[in-house]
Amino acid sequence: MKTVEVDVAVIGAGTSGMNARREVEKAGGKPLLIEADQYGTTCARVGCMPSKLLIAAANRAHAVASADEFGIEVSGVQVDGKAVMERVRRYRDRFAGAVVKTIEALPEQERLCGRARFTGPTTLEVDAHTQVKARAVVIATGASAVIPPPYDAVHDHVLTNETVFELEDLPATLAVVGTGIIGLELGQAFQRLGVNVTFFARSDHIGAASDPKVRAAVHDTFAAELDLRLNADVTAAEVAGNGIRLNWTEADGSAHEGVFEKVLVAAGRRPNLDNLNLAATGLELDERGRPPWNPATTQCGELPIFMAGDISGYIPLLHEASDEGRIAGANAINYPNLETHTRRTPLAIAFTAPQMAATGQGFADLDPDATAIGEVSFARQGRALVEGTNNGVLRVYGDCTTGRLIGAEMLAPQAEHLAHLLAWAIQADLSIDEVLAMPVYHPVLEEGMRTALRDLARQLEHTDNCRQHATAAGD
Ligand SMILES: Cc1cc2nc3c(=O)[nH]c(=O)nc-3n(C[C@H](O)[C@H](O)[C@H](O)COP(=O)(O)OP(=O)(O)OC[C@H]3O[C@@H](n4cnc5c(N)ncnc54)[C@H](O)[C@@H]3O)c2cc1C
Repeated sequence: MKTVEVDVAVIGAGTSGMNARREVEKAGGKPLLIEADQYGTTCARVGCMPSKLLIAAANRAHAVASADEFGIEVSGVQVDGKAVMERVRRYRDRFAGAVVKTIEALPEQERLCGRARFTGPTTLEVDAHTQVKARAVVIATGASAVIPPPYDAVHDHVLTNETVFELEDLPATLAVVGTGIIGLELGQAFQRLGVNVTFFARSDHIGAASDPKVRAAVHDTFAAELDLRLNADVTAAEVAGNGIRLNWTEADGSAHEGVFEKVLVAAGRRPNLDNLNLAATGLELDERGRPPWNPATTQCGELPIFMAGDISGYIPLLHEASDEGRIAGANAINYPNLETHTRRTPLAIAFTAPQMAATGQGFADLDPDATAIGEVSFARQGRALVEGTNNGVLRVYGDCTTGRLIGAEMLAPQAEHLAHLLAWAIQADLSIDEVLAMPVYHPVLEEGMRTALRDLARQLEHTDNCRQHATAAGD
């Protein structure tokens, strides 16, 4: 077995791992990037990018299908499933190809193919061919789709995000397991491309919102468009001809059976901690095998081991993976001199139609006695009516004591843009009055956001909770 000595070994060549590696290089250190599977990153290969490509096609199909609302008659429309999937893959390959090129341009001694496992706090074994001795290690091994029972019985036949974009054509029928963000994004896109989609969820939770008003709007909106089997218990899955037969019991106790051409399992993602042999590091692991981890430094315990990206389980999103990679790489090469970082204001977006988003503190994190809430419905919002996208609700949260904007949740047209504006205002620590002093053009969706903020300003002044806080502060 070969032995190599480096400054920082980075396990995983995804977004966080690549960023960590770059920081080590920038600081003049000797990095080693270790990858067990494929170069190209989860985001570009099987995540953010191909999913948005599929959604882009679905949005086009939907715009055409709903054109009659605007007096435009479109006839002879056909979705060419093969062409849709071919475009998804063509652009996906372009994005992933650019990443692969970057990695393959690295000097050979700075990258290694194989699965890494710890043999000590800073020593690794990669497959059976290489021993790595490092001064520090960055774990950036990402997360994988969970395939729970009973779907594990047909493991090789179900689709996950790893395989769904390889479909040569659109299936006629599709069961989507899970109504979280990934299941909803992909399932709604397939539905809008003409696939007959049935969603299965063990609870009645759709998406990730915690605000009851947003959740109600989410439920009403998606239940009206999609075939949702909520609180359903799928008891069996078996191969049936060219498809998969599912047996399930619905919330009312009724038993059902159906054969689906394809089944897409989007039932959650689990950090890739298995197979790392973290026990060899001496770190104290919790019942799920996770080491102690500091989000401000990305350090695990007190050791020269850092964890970045989806593996950390902190916020499994691309921009957070990038940030954690940079923090981890810089702290790994500078160990034991660690820099602590203030993390960005949380921001999460689901590219459903309408989109869902949350920023800052979510409803579930609020102190109800110290918070005022403003809201707007998009049902009668001017620009939304113009565009025929007048559906959704935005709720904004303010701190009674400081008058600052602290968070928002929404189901809204173009929520991706509204959420960014609000996130930037929160991170800039603006008061509601300062946000309201910003210019807003007419007629735009941001006017809806201003309506919610005005409502929040009124609530901050008048709600009992906030009045009590103002009195207490005055005392
Ligand atoms: C369908 C889907 C859609 C998404 N859409 C969005 C979106 O719109 N916006 C957004 O912000 N985020 C989105 N995400 C999340 C985003 O893709 C992830 O947060 C991000 O890619 C995580 O990057 P990472 O560096 O942590 O992991 P990865 O990019 O997964 O990299 C981890 C790497 O580690 C390797 N590895 C694992 N174990 C070992 C080992 N023992 N030895 C060596 N190598 C190993 C893996 O093979 C992998 O290449 C989406 C995810 C999915 C699945």
